[in-house]
Amino acid sequence: MKSFFKKERNVILHRKPAAILLAVLLLCTTGCGQAEKSYQRIDTAMGTVIKETIYVQEGGEDITGQVREEIVKLEEELLSHRIEESEVSGINRNAGDPRGVKLSRKLWDILELTQEVSRKSGGAFDITIGRTVNLWNIDTLAAETEDKAVLPSEEAIKTSLKSAGYDRIELNCDTIYLPEGMKLDLGAVGKGIACDEIFSYLQGQPAVSGAVISVGGSILTYGNKPGGKPWNIGIVNPDDPSSYIGGLTLEGKWCVSTSGDYERFVEVEGVRYHHIIDPATGFPADAGLGSVTVLSRSGALSDALSTACFVLGTEKSLSLLEDYDAFAVFVDHEGNITLSEGMEAYFDPL
Ligand code: AMP
Ligand code: MG
Repeated sequence: MKSFFKKERNVILHRKPAAILLAVLLLCTTGCGQAEKSYQRIDTAMGTVIKETIYVQEGGEDITGQVREEIVKLEEELLSHRIEESEVSGINRNAGDPRGVKLSRKLWDILELTQEVSRKSGGAFDITIGRTVNLWNIDTLAAETEDKAVLPSEEAIKTSLKSAGYDRIELNCDTIYLPEGMKLDLGAVGKGIACDEIFSYLQGQPAVSGAVISVGGSILTYGNKPGGKPWNIGIVNPDDPSSYIGGLTLEGKWCVSTSGDYERFVEVEGVRYHHIIDPATGFPADAGLGSVTVLSRSGALSDALSTACFVLGTEKSLSLLEDYDAFAVFVDHEGNITLSEGMEAYFDPL
C-alpha cells in the first residue's frame, strides 16, 4: 500500500491487502478537429439527467435523440418497476404465483448477473429490497423540510425486510418465481445497463468516432475524442458537490458509476438519511463513505458494484472488485480518498 498527501486530502493506494460525493462531471473538450462534428444534448430519461456528447465523422448525422430513445425503451419495456407495462412490473405483480413469469433473454442475463453480485457481496447488493426502498421514499423525504420529514418506523422497516432476500428468488430455465410480497427494484443497476445498451447501439453506427454519455451517476466513454485525446471524467466531492476531488483519464470504452450519500438525502437531527439501503438493517448504509466510484468495462457491473461497495465499505469491497476486474475510488467524510489496486493508472487527485 502506498499513500501520498495532496491539498490536505489523504490519498491511499491499495496494493493487494490497504473523501466526498462523487458526482461525476463530464469534462468534454469542445475542440473538434479534422472532419468530425460534435453533437450535444441534455435531456431526462429514467428519472435522471442524460448528458450526451457524440462525435461523428463527415456525412454522419446527429443521433443524440435516438440514443435517448434507446434509454426510454429500455426503461419502459424492461426495467422500470413504476411503469406497469414493463417486464419487471409484470414480475412484481405476479409475486407469489407458483407458475412464475417467463423472462426475456435480456432480463434473464441481467438477473443472473445481479444474483451473482448479491451472492458475492454477501447480500450488500440486493434488488429484492423494493418494499424497503419504497418505505423510505427518499425522493419525497428529501423534498420535505427537516421538521416535516417523517421517517419510517423500525417496525415497518422490519416488516418490509421480510419480503426481501435475493436467495429466495428462483430462476429456473427461462422462468422466475418471486415469493409473495417481494418487489424487485433495479434502480441500483439500471443506469449502468443503459450504458451497455448505448454501447451496443453506437457500435452499429459506423459514423460515430467517439462519445461520452452520462445517465445519472453512470457514464459511458466510447471511441476517441478528436485528436486522439483521452476522456476526462471528474469525481465530485461528496462534502461539496459543486467541486471535484479528482478525475479519471480514460481511453476507449469504459463505464464509470458513482454511488454517493450526497445524491438524494434528507437530514434529520444531524443524521443524513440517503437512498442507498443496507439490506442487513433496512436503514441507509453507514460504512463511513461519502461516495464510491467504480470503473469497469461493463456498465451493469460498474453500477451494481458501486452500490455494493458503498454498502460494504472500503476494506470489504476489495476482493469483490478484484473478482470482477473492476477498480474503485472510495471517498470518506474525513478527507480520505482510497484507491483499489489498479485504479492509480486512471485517477489523478485535484
Ligand atoms: P445507486 O445510486 O446506483 O447506488 O442506486 C441506488 C438505488 O438502488 C436506490 O435509489 C434504490 O432504488 C436501489 N437500492 C438502494 N439500496 C440498494 C441495495 N443495497 N441493493 C440494491 N439496490 C439498492
Ligand atoms: Mg449502482
